[in-house]
This record gives sequence, C-alpha cells and structure tokens, in this order.
Amino acid sequence: MSESTVSILEIENVTPEVKRFVTDRPDGYQFRPGQATEVAIAKDGWRDEERPFTFTSLPNDAKLEFTIKIYPERDGVTDRLGDLKEGDELILGDAWGAIEYMGTGTFIAGGAGITPFISILRELEKEEKLKGNRLIFSNDRESDVILAGELRRLLGDDAKFVITDEESERYFSGRVDEDYLKKQISDFDQYFYVCGPPAMVEDVTEALKKLGADESRIVTEEA
Ligand SMILES: Cc1cc2nc3c(=O)[nH]c(=O)nc-3n(C[C@H](O)[C@H](O)[C@H](O)COP(=O)(O)OP(=O)(O)OC[C@H]3O[C@@H](n4cnc5c(N)ncnc54)[C@H](O)[C@@H]3O)c2cc1C
Repeated sequence: MSESTVSILEIENVTPEVKRFVTDRPDGYQFRPGQATEVAIAKDGWRDEERPFTFTSLPNDAKLEFTIKIYPERDGVTDRLGDLKEGDELILGDAWGAIEYMGTGTFIAGGAGITPFISILRELEKEEKLKGNRLIFSNDRESDVILAGELRRLLGDDAKFVITDEESERYFSGRVDEDYLKKQISDFDQYFYVCGPPAMVEDVTEALKKLGADESRIVTEEA
C-alpha cells in the first residue's frame, strides 16, 4: 500500500459532532465515489493509528474532502482529529471500499454512514443521473443530520429523514424497520445501498430481503 501525506486546508463543523476536513490532493491520487481510505494523523504516537474514512469530494475535484464524526469519549483518532488545525497533516493510504453505484435505487444511511452516498449523489448530480434515486437517512437526533439542506436540494421529496431517539417536528420519528420500508418503497426490484452502524446494516438488509429484495441488489458497507 502506498502512503501520501496531505495538509489540512480547511476545517468546519457541519453538525455539532461532525467536521468537514478539506486537504490538498497528491498528484495522481485516484478514488471512486463511495470509496474510503485509511487515514492516520501525522503526529508522534498517531502515525500507526489508521482509521477508515470516506471521500465526500468528487474524483475530479482539485482537493480532497472528508466528513468525520468526532467521538471525544473514545480517546481515539477521531478525538484527535477534532483538535487538529489547518496546516496539520494526515497520512492517507490507497482508496478502497465496497460501495459503488450500480444503478438507480434507494440509499439507506445511518449517521456517518451517509458519507459514501454524499460523494455518489454529488457525482450523479454532475452527470445529471439523479432522477429516480431516493434516500432514507436515519439519525438519533435532528441535530445529527449531516447536510440536510444539500440532500434536499439534490433529491427533493425523495430524501426522507428519520429520527430515532427524540420526537422530531421536522422529520419522521421512528425506525427504519420492515414496516417503514414497506410504506416507503413500492418496488423491491431495484438497487439498495445500505451504510451505517453494523446492527443497522444487518437489520435493514434482513428487512429488505423479507420484503422481496434480491440479495445481489443490496450493496452494503458498515460505517
Ligand atoms: C469503510 C468505512 C468508511 C468510514 N467512513 C467514515 C466517514 O467518512 N466518516 C465518519 O465519521 N466515519 C466513518 N467511518 C467510521 C470511522 O472509521 C470510525 O468512526 C473511526 O474509526 C473511529 O475511530 P476512533 O479511533 O475515534 O475510535 P475507535 O477506534 O472506534 O475506538 C477507540 C476506543 O474507543 C472505544 N470504543 C469503540 N467503539 C465504541 C463505542 N461504540 N462506544 C464506546 N466506546 C467505544 C474502544 O475502547 C476503542 O478502543 C467509516 C468506517 C468504515 C469501515
């Protein structure tokens, strides 16, 4: 695996717990929408602590972008990422990952599991191929929803937001379970893209299969 060191050019909060990091892009660095890479912080004691994060920028953008949920309570890499400043450096591996756009379908994301879909949906917009794609995006709280405005702009009413851990005035309060999926989806003969916490990916995949989706058309990755 090759390694590339990049400098952080911009950092901003997209939700109270999620930060957007923009870095420069090494010459010739390649990835596809939906792919991730191992990221380490270029500081003593942290260079060997690699964690996977997904590109939210597009393959032809001049800079790289990551959208990262910080877990201060874990005392791990994301906690350290939360303290970084512009000018600090990251070490990236090669791009890898299972999530890739196969055709029109429904994207189902939980929390930071939206990140591969951000890049894919941005690319589809650029290629004018968004039509017919839908999104179901589940979060614990309203304040956790990443890029709600952009997702609505991209997909209009085909972006559905679900809040699991509080009563929401803006969005549907409940869970993405078999009952919810049955109400939202009439055609199970389409692609489904599922990304989020392992338990959610497992539960949603099982529910989709029960409702008639073919396993070969369910594209998954755990975030
Ligand atoms: C392919 C892929 C792509 C990903 N892309 C993104 C992305 O784009 N954006 C994003 O935000 N995330 C993404 N993730 C998730 C991201 O990799 C993790 O959030 C990150 O690795 C956490 O690193 P950490 O060092 O902060 O914590 P960890 O290494 O997970 O944990 C550090 C310590 O905290 C404790 N701990 C672990 N889990 C828990 C828990 N659930 N509760 C309490 N304590 C715990 C353990 O003691 C552990 O040793 C992706 C994951 C995968 C697999």
